[in-house]
Parts: sequence; structure tokens; C-alpha cells
Amino acid sequence: MLHLFSFPPRSTSTKKKGHIQMASVSASQVMSRSSHFNSGGTCNLKPKLCARSVACKRIPSLRNQAMSYHGLRSLNQVDLINMQTNSKATSQQARRKGYKNTNGRTFGVIAGGSGMNLIFVGSEVAPWSKTGGLGDIIGGLPPAMAANGHRVMTVTPRYDQYKDSWDTGVTVELKVGDNLETVRFFHCYKRGVDHVFVDHPIFLKKVLGKTDEIVGTDYQDYQLQFSLLCQAALEAPRVLNLNNSKYFSEPYGEDVVFIANDWHTALIPCYLKSMYKPHGIYKNAKVVFCIHNIAYQGRFAFWDFELLNLPNQFERSFDFFDGYARYFWPVKGRKINWMKAGILESDRVLTVSPYYAQELISGFERGVELETIIRKTGITGIVNGMDVEEWNPLTDKYISVNYDHTTVLDAKPFLKEALQAEVGLPVDKNIPLIGFIGGLEKEKGSDILVAAIPEIVEENVQIVVLGTGVEYMEKQLEQLEVKYPEKARGVAKFNVPLAHMITAGADFMIVPSRFEPCGLIQLHAMRYGTVSIVASTGGLVDTVKDGVTGFHIGEAFNIDVRVVDSTGGGASSVDCEAVDPADATAVATTVKRALAFYRTPYLPEMIKNCMAQDLSWMGPAKQWEEVLLSLGVGSSEPGINGEEIAPLAKENVATRLGVGGSEPGINGEENAPPAKENTVVLKVVVPDESSVWDVYSAMTLMEGCGGLFIDMKKQKVTVKGKVQPDAVLQVLLDIGYKASFWEEEATDVEEAEEEATDVEETEGQK
Ligand code: ADP
Repeated sequence: MLHLFSFPPRSTSTKKKGHIQMASVSASQVMSRSSHFNSGGTCNLKPKLCARSVACKRIPSLRNQAMSYHGLRSLNQVDLINMQTNSKATSQQARRKGYKNTNGRTFGVIAGGSGMNLIFVGSEVAPWSKTGGLGDIIGGLPPAMAANGHRVMTVTPRYDQYKDSWDTGVTVELKVGDNLETVRFFHCYKRGVDHVFVDHPIFLKKVLGKTDEIVGTDYQDYQLQFSLLCQAALEAPRVLNLNNSKYFSEPYGEDVVFIANDWHTALIPCYLKSMYKPHGIYKNAKVVFCIHNIAYQGRFAFWDFELLNLPNQFERSFDFFDGYARYFWPVKGRKINWMKAGILESDRVLTVSPYYAQELISGFERGVELETIIRKTGITGIVNGMDVEEWNPLTDKYISVNYDHTTVLDAKPFLKEALQAEVGLPVDKNIPLIGFIGGLEKEKGSDILVAAIPEIVEENVQIVVLGTGVEYMEKQLEQLEVKYPEKARGVAKFNVPLAHMITAGADFMIVPSRFEPCGLIQLHAMRYGTVSIVASTGGLVDTVKDGVTGFHIGEAFNIDVRVVDSTGGGASSVDCEAVDPADATAVATTVKRALAFYRTPYLPEMIKNCMAQDLSWMGPAKQWEEVLLSLGVGSSEPGINGEEIAPLAKENVATRLGVGGSEPGINGEENAPPAKENTVVLKVVVPDESSVWDVYSAMTLMEGCGGLFIDMKKQKVTVKGKVQPDAVLQVLLDIGYKASFWEEEATDVEEAEEEATDVEETEGQK
């Protein structure tokens, strides 16, 4: 078997602290491990796009089920965990609010002052459209950039009648192929970001499940669709007068940076150079091209170049001659390659992890025949962040017990039982459970996992596999239950609630990808204290540390292609050879290594390590900012950490609730706030009368407390004095914290005093 890398995970990493890393590679740093020759690439070049809706149904029965099935646990214990966890959440939230209001920052950086104007363009944006990680990233990174004080727009197709977007009424005419097409812009302002949706029948008719299109087949008019998207994205900053943010108004203007994502957006730098710059428009604008998955390049017949309406001088950038029989679709040999042009014509090339950046230039197999081009331009890898709001074990609505790092060990057995009951496995919290979530395709190695299962189930273990994809693999999943009724279940569905249940309820998450640019599954798993067992490729190398936060399989899988696509090319997903038995054995061996940790003190230690990491977008956003600033567009200045330009976005980005033992603070609030000089008023609302008195008596002992007021009717205790919000919270925690929530400090002392009844007065009435 040929392997590209001999991988010792511990020694090759160039990690900085935490999981966030960035590394640039250029021609001078090309890895020399690329000399193996195989007869193929990694997968077909089917454009990866379908506007799969992510709207999902909850599992209504689950909560009840988790409370009652088999009578395996007492309600009290669950409630106890939830209570501990919730009280902690409330206190942390309160602390956060307190910090925010005491850091003394003034609001508002106005466009044209500091901060960049950033336009993210892509084929999907979560939560409106998502087929996988790309949608998550275009949904997650922009708010993080906005939270750092930049003005940020996303431009994606309008695949559906999104309820929360409005018609701007602005239209532009664009030449696509031989026709003039009119597009209309819809808009939605959320989490500090202007989300612009490009409206045209060509997109709307692609709504999966709502049109006649067959899921999984290529759309014939991809090139026209994405030519339209790229041109519309270039118009949006100039023509849209967006005023939703109170900090910015007017169109974005011309001093912008476009962030083009994957092949669908590769025409942006080309049109910028051919249609705008020669006319003195967008003189300073720059384009960054980000590769999320090199396997999808947008290869088309060479004569299709004419469809793109680009001058001949661009032909060279698109010109591409591929070497593999399985890619001889739609024509053999010479083609145009969108991604190649995007890489060559952009000002900077990025990808989603440092190790993937190295793999991309390592040889034709992992660079999928663009390795020499990327060596020429250089590439920077920045690990993705994750949505810490949607994936938060403390608030997750899909799981029956919410938890954080302090309660994870108590909560997980219950969540495992809930998961076992949900998928119909024997309910037993003592059996280690392994989860898999992801596409059923060769890229994700689901076939390798299935091949390893017979060996894995020799152990005392259960496996739950959730995924959709290639038909024969879906059938393989359905067979798991038949073959291993006591040990394995496969669910061939796109089921978000179940994905959350697996992430929370499994002890281990397996990610056996043949290649994985960054991967989100392992990030989600780590946030939920689920230890990952991962293939040693791409972002999995950068994000999972062997023996610390997970287990590495140790060597990249074979990606040799030997089976020519029987459909004639392009219609099915990755068509690698059959599973290499050595890879299946490597998976089984690593699973057994991980299982040996079960019920040892090492596993809780690893769980703690996983949950202690900051996996949010905050760190990656800073690295992105560094790269974007280096382009020197317009009045670029670093955003002030935590600049309150988009408070809602900041909430999302900076949330670290329930992660780790220490509370590092919100972006820009790294240090504890300075002691208050002035008298402040803080109110605590409590759930019942007796709590009012408990809280009151505890507060009397607090240092700096200048006056205490209670309002029995509103069940509120107001404290006035030179006190830290933190100290108040500590007092509440010390007494078991019966307060139901923390209210913002009152701004006006007089008003608060008026509102509250003096305690003596109240006591007198009693
Ligand atoms: P990809 O290469 O597909 O982008 P990632 O690991 O980056 O893979 O992201 C996959 C995303 O899709 C994750 O948010 C994951 O939870 C979700 N996902 C994948 N398959 C399923 C499924 N069958 N049901 C629910 N969610 C899924």
C-alpha cells in the first residue's frame, strides 16, 4: 500500500497554544514526501452543492424518554446536574454582562475609520443554506470578524424564500453567457453581518426537495449560476445602501476585500481585473481565495471558457490538462479549471488548516493536480473555529441533560442511555459507545469504518453511525443492525437532533477521513467532552492531539484510485478503490487503543482537556484579520479586540461558557475589570420570597456593600455600593444561588432606590 505520509502526530505539529493555528507554506517549504506515484486523484470533481435545508425536527419524545425509560436513573440526579449546570450558566452570563458594562469602552467605530470592509462570497451560508462545513464557516467567521469591528457582508444565492430576509428592491443587470440577466438583492442583518442573498430563478429552482432536480446529480448550468453569483457579489458593495447597523451606513464602497470561497467563487478576481479595475473602479480592492476542499475544482470543457465572458488573457489561468481517466468527463484532456484560475488570479490563498496547506503542496494526490500552482502562489492555513452557540452542551436543546466541564462526567452516562434508547441499542451506561457523523463517501472514510466494524465489535463496545451519501453506503449502514443487533446501528438520514445526541452521548467520536481539510465533527465532539479517534490527515492533525484530546490513527489512509467511475464520470461521489485492509486494521487497532482508556483515570483527564479548549471563532478571526490587514486595503487597521461594533456577534464569538475551568473573559476583556470606583446598583431577581431573605442576609456580609433594598412584590434584591458584580455572584453561589436570573445593573441610582422598598420598611411591615 502506498502512503503519502509517515506520520508521527506528536512530532510534526507546529502548534501554538490551543487549537488555533496558522501556518503559511510557500515554494521554499514544499514537503519532499510527494514522490509516490498512484494512478489517480482522490475523488471526482462534482461541484459540491445542494441547498440542503438544515431546518430540523426535534425529537419530541426524547426528553420524556430520557427521563423515564427503563427506570435506569432517578429524576433527581438529572435535575441535580441540570440545576448545578444552569446555576453556573446563569452566573457566568451575569459575570459576562457585568464585565461588559464595566470595561469603559465607548461604542462605535464608523466605516472609514478603523476596520475593514469585508465581503465573503460563497455557495452557501448557515443557517440559510448548508451542505457541510463550508456553510458553517461562512455562517461563523463573518460574525467573528464583525465582532472585531469590521464591516462584514456575505453574498450567497437565495435558494429559498428565507423568512428573515427582505427585498432591497435593488436590481442589477449582468451578462451571463449570451444573455442579460437581472438579479435582485435580498438582505438580512444578523449578528453584526449584512447577509445579502442573490435572487434569480436559476437559484430558486434548485431548492432540493422542492424542485424536480434529482439530488446528487450535477446541475448542467453550474457555470452560469456561479458566474452570476460572482458578478452579483462584485456589484453588491457598490449598489446596496445598507443601514441596519447603527455603526455603518451607505454602501460599502470600493475599498473592500473580497473573500472568495471554493471554486464557485473563483471568477471574482477575474471579473474584478477585467471589468472593474481597468475602468478605475475597485482600484484598491483585493481578493483572498480560500480553499475549503480541493477535491471540488470546477473542471469543465475547455470551450466553455467562452461562456464566462472573460478576455482571452485569462484563458491561461483556466487552462488545465488532467491526467486521469476517471476525470475524462465531460471531455477528455484539456479543460478549464475554475479553482486553478481563482488561485492564480487572487492576491492571497488561504485554506482551513496548516496541515492541509502542507498536504495541498505535497503532491498530485492530495493537491489533486493543483499542487504546483499552489506551490507557486504559496498558501496559508488557518484552522476553522466552530459555532459555540449552536454546539453548546450547556444550552443544547436537543439533549436531555445539559452540562459543562464540571458536570460532564455525571451527565454523559445519562446522555449515552438516551442515545442508546433512541437508536434501539441495549441501554447500558457501562458499555463504551463510539459515534460517527458525516457524509457517506470515500472522502470521509465511512467505508473504511464499515470494513473495520467486524474487528471492532469483538470488543465490548457499541457503535452508532449517522450519515447520508452514496446509495450503496447507505445500504451498508442499514445492514449494521441486522448483522450486529446488540452492538451497532446505522442511521442513513440527515438528522441534526440525532447528530447532537451522538456528539453528547458517545464516549468516542470516530473521524476516519481519507482527507479532511479541517473537519468540524471533531471540534464539536471536543466541546462536548467526547474524545475523538481520528485519521491523521488535514485539520485533524492540527486539532486533535494524540493522547491528550484524542487518538490518532497514525498514518494517512490510502487514497489510491483504481476503479474507474462506472457512471461515465462525475455523477457519483468519490470513487476510490475498495478499502485497503491495512486501513481497516489501522482503524480497529486505534479504536482498541482508545477503548483501553475507558474506565481509567486517563479518559476523564482527556475529556477535561477537550473541554478546556477555546474552539470558538475568536482566535481564528484574529488570524484571518492579520492576513487580511496585510493586503493593505483602504483605511485598514486592526479591529480593537472586542470593539463593541456588533454586540450580538460578539456574544456569539466570545462565548466560552462551560469551557474549561478558567474563565478567560470575552474578547477585549481578557483581564478582570478594574475595581469599580463609583457606586453601582445591581439587582438580583429571585424566584420566591424565602430566597429574597436568603440573598439579602448573605449580601449584608459583602465588602463594599453600601445599601441593600428588597422588593418583595418583584422578588428583587438591590445592592448599592462599591461592589464587583463578580463578588455578588460569588455570594449567591455560596448560598446555593436560588436567584432565577441576574438583571443588568440599573443605570440610575435614584431610580433604583425609588423602585425598591427600603429593607427596614419592608421588615417593619412583616
Ligand atoms: P464536510 O466536509 O461535509 O463539510 P465537516 O466535518 O466540515 O464536513 O462538517 C459537517 C457538518 O455537517 C457538521 O456540522 C455535521 O454535524 C453535519 N452533518 C454531517 N452529516 C450529518 C447528518 N447525517 N446529520 C446531521 N448533521 C450532519
